[in-house]
Order: sequence, then structure tokens, then C-alpha cells
Amino acid sequence: MKAHESHGAASVTANDREPLAPDLARSRPRLAIVVPCFNEELVISETVGRLLEVLRDLREQGQIASESFLFFIDDGSIDQTWNLLRDLNKSNPEVKGLKLARNFGHQNAVLAGLLTVRHRADCVISMDADLQHDPQAIYSFLDKYRQGADIVYGVRRDAGNVPLSKKIGSSMFYWLMTSMGAKVVKDHPDYRLISAKVLDTLADYKEVNVFLRGIFANMGFRSEVVYFDVHDRAAGTTHYSWRKMIGLALDGVTSFSVVPLRIIAIGGVLITLGALAVAVFIVFSALRGDVVPGWASTVLPIYVLGGIQIMTIGLVAEYIGKIYSEVKQRPRFISDQELS
Ligand code: UDP
Ligand code: MG
Repeated sequence: MKAHESHGAASVTANDREPLAPDLARSRPRLAIVVPCFNEELVISETVGRLLEVLRDLREQGQIASESFLFFIDDGSIDQTWNLLRDLNKSNPEVKGLKLARNFGHQNAVLAGLLTVRHRADCVISMDADLQHDPQAIYSFLDKYRQGADIVYGVRRDAGNVPLSKKIGSSMFYWLMTSMGAKVVKDHPDYRLISAKVLDTLADYKEVNVFLRGIFANMGFRSEVVYFDVHDRAAGTTHYSWRKMIGLALDGVTSFSVVPLRIIAIGGVLITLGALAVAVFIVFSALRGDVVPGWASTVLPIYVLGGIQIMTIGLVAEYIGKIYSEVKQRPRFISDQELS
């Protein structure tokens, strides 16, 4: 069983989205920029200003359709973030948003934004609210999209401005993911462009514990990479504590890999083999009579049964892995194009 391969129902193609002519959706798409915000009152006005500049410039250059917009998801902020967004929306019609009922966490906030704009855009860019993701890269994202890419991954060019603890954290995270056989793009945060086709496929992933980076890497489709510079946070502090980072890493591994479960089974087999070898030694020692009476009959079952127990847990874990991939109901295949 390969948990990182696709299972579930077929992907759908856009249905209730009012389609543009296909070539127009590529050459002058309706772009939505999705930005999750959690207590970002210190930075949100500046971010809106910078993104509006980029959006208007792109529109003037005829690179995107006039219906393009910014979409902010307030992830249960307890500061002025939502009020500021409301004011900005009054003076700038391109600023739109959604307020979640409470804090659902970064991944769910991005997912909420993506699925909400699903039928209003031909391509969507997701990025952080703190301007750490250089908005200048949006131009290159769109170039790649126009050339036919369905997913464009933003990859950190130089992590010079990132604190050492974060660098160590993300290297460990990447190592853990790849050694457990889960696919992720190295140094790619949640800064990416996806096409409407990818967005429709995303809607077919019904899992509750979302790890977006893994989901997109798992999908396939034509993808490209754009390198961007990491800036310091424009204001405020990170919301990603070590605890949250470890939680994300665990979600990433357990959502895309059954290797941890398989390690139990392999461990069980190795221990049983070791126990059998020890058993031979114990039986010989007992036959030669150079052991304390009762010793052999006590230790022999401990080793052998211990090994068999762990092996059995490994076997049960294989089934749990199967159940896990079934309940996620991921698409069993994802179609890209069809000739008719
Ligand atoms: N964020 C969110 N919900 C959360 C935590 C963070 O929507 O529970 C948003 C946050 O406002 C920012 C993005 O996710 O736009 C990334 O968070 P942050 O910059 O704190 O993380 P870092 O860049 O330090 O990893
Ligand atoms: Mg940040």
C-alpha cells in the first residue's frame, strides 16, 4: 500500500464557474490572491497596499482580468485585523474577505480561502500576510501560468533572513518528510499559484487534517518553480511556535506516509528472529544443564512472545494504514485533459 498515491473518486472539472474562453483564462485570467491572517493588525494595511499595487499594475498591463481581487481570511483574530479589512474593503472594491468563526489554524484558513474563491477565479495565489513572501514573484508566477503550468511553487531563494531556529526546524521537517517517503518540494512554504483545475481537484480531497504542501505535491499536473527572496516580517511576530511546527510535521508525515506503521512490523520481525536465535542458545544451555533451574522456561517465552506481539501489532497497523487511506477518500485518479 502506498499512502502517497491517489485513492478515491474521480476529480471533477469546473461546472458552475462561468467559464472564460479557455485561451483567455490562460492569457488574461481572473486572479484571486488568498491571504490568511491571524492577528495581523500591525501589518495588514501595508500588505493590502502592496498587493493592490501589484494587482492594479497587472491589470493595467492587461495580464489579468479586471475582476481579479484580493481575498483575506481572518482566522479568528482577536485584534483589529477584521475591522481594518472592513475599512479597506469600503475604499477598495478589490479587497474582499472572509472571517472564520474562530481560529482554525493556518492550513485550514488557506483551504477556506481557496475553496471560497473557487468559482470566481481562473487561478489563485496563496501567500502569507506578513510580506515575507515577496509580492514581486507574482509576476513570474503568472508568466509560468501563461506558459501552461497548473501549479507554480514559490521556493525560498535564500533563507538569509530566516532565524536559525526556523532554518533548523524546516531542514528537520524536510528530512523527516522525505525519509518517510512523503513528497514535498524543498523550501516551498504556502506561497504558490494554482489553476482552476487544481482547485477543483483540491475540493475532492475530503480529509480533515489538511497538509496542503503534501496534497499539491501528491496531485501531479504540470508544475513549475519560481524562486523568491524571503523578507523579514513587515511587523508583528510569528504565529508558528515550535509546538505548531512539530504538529504540522506530524500531520505532514502521518497524512502522506505509512512508513511509521511499517517500521513497527519490520521491528517485530527483526525482534522475533533475534528471539529465535536466543531461543536456540537457551535450549542448548538448558540441555547442557549449566543454568539455574527455571531460567530457560522463564526467559524463552519472554523473548519469543515479545517478538511475536510486536510483529502482530505491525500486522494490525498495516490494516489501520489501509483504513486510514480509505476514510480519507482521496481521488483514486486525477484527470488532466480529455479529448472528445
Ligand atoms: N496564520 C493563520 N492562522 C494561524 C497562524 C497563522 O492564518 O493560526 C497566518 C498568519 O497570519 C500568516 C501566515 O499564516 O499570514 C503564516 O504565519 P506566520 O507568518 O506567523 O508564520 P511563519 O512565517 O513565521 O512561519
Ligand atoms: Mg511569516
